[in-house]
Amino acid sequence: MKQKRVVVLGSTGSIGRNVLRVIESFPNRFAVIGLGANRSVEVLAEQVRQHRPRAVSVGDPHRVPELKRLIRDVDATIFAGESGLTELATMDDVDILVTAVVGAVGLDPVLKALERGIRVAVANKEPLVMAGKIVMETAKRHAAELLPIDSEHSAVFQCLNRADTSSVRKVVLTASGGPFYGKPKQELSTVTPEQALAHPTWCMGPKVSVDSATLMNKGLEVIEAMWLFGVDVDRIDVLIHPQSAVHSLVEYVDGSTIAQIASPDMKLPIQYALTYPERLPTPFKTAALADIGGLTFERITRGTFPCLDYAYDAARRKGTMPAALNAANEVAVEAFLKRELPFLGIPEVIRRVLGKHENKIEPSLEDVKEADRMARILAATAISDLRQKG
Ligand code: MG
Repeated sequence: MKQKRVVVLGSTGSIGRNVLRVIESFPNRFAVIGLGANRSVEVLAEQVRQHRPRAVSVGDPHRVPELKRLIRDVDATIFAGESGLTELATMDDVDILVTAVVGAVGLDPVLKALERGIRVAVANKEPLVMAGKIVMETAKRHAAELLPIDSEHSAVFQCLNRADTSSVRKVVLTASGGPFYGKPKQELSTVTPEQALAHPTWCMGPKVSVDSATLMNKGLEVIEAMWLFGVDVDRIDVLIHPQSAVHSLVEYVDGSTIAQIASPDMKLPIQYALTYPERLPTPFKTAALADIGGLTFERITRGTFPCLDYAYDAARRKGTMPAALNAANEVAVEAFLKRELPFLGIPEVIRRVLGKHENKIEPSLEDVKEADRMARILAATAISDLRQKG
């Protein structure tokens, strides 16, 4: 069998490393031809030695000499900066692009790969959250497959099994609730970055961990699901499911609900996105329902997680609102991690930015990027205003 040639963007992050673990488990099926990372050049160099890709890219151009030195005996083209990711995505003979970079930098490579009809497996939320309509239209126009790696979307994708969305009553995304679910608001005001980074069931990078604690992660997933599956946002529900065993469900109009169950291990949805439509025996640990014991589900009362409410609101308003929401959140989370903003300041910053953002309906890619840029400025202003007050 011919190996599929894979490019992995964000290869040194938590998802990226899992992508490589999956690829290493199926050496006859996949070969890595491109690796892109931001700053972790030591880890990247190790990955390059192991996988021998044709090309590699590092986000920070200043780290290029260091990377060159570390891989001097490897024959690989080195790209740098944001455009380096797009260079990798558009190399000749790419079969699959896996994108697991954090932030808006993932958008261009995804669009360029889709334009070439390449299968794109997306783990980062930004391309669909910021420019969902543009991304989906590009995929359709070029008959390119866009497969989700996020566990919830992989679950919905599997539960839908190409069913017509007119037969779907509801898409239900599950949420573990994060480390603070059920805690009173007073307690949340003193939450530290360390506490927010301790997630009960998933092991993730800092940005996603904080997003899970505020439930913005779920909010972004709602927006992503709306575009990916073409269902109206008011047909997407979120249920708290602390065991993280059921990754999502699809409720059909005839009263049947199909759920997808698997271990909370990103390698499983990654494997599915790489091997789809095939299902291959997995070398990774799988879930035994009897070991989990009980599965519980709870509705979320509105107002408990303001970030989730803002995400629904942005999804309903569409246009550039989701891009503004995403940018405001990125800036606010970064400030929280640097101890420049309290935990409850995150939704406050988002609220202020969305209140000021001028929504542009049917935006172009340029409009989306401009909305992202403006929202970052508004967020920085909101943060310094809050700091002066506090
Ligand atoms: Mg998820």
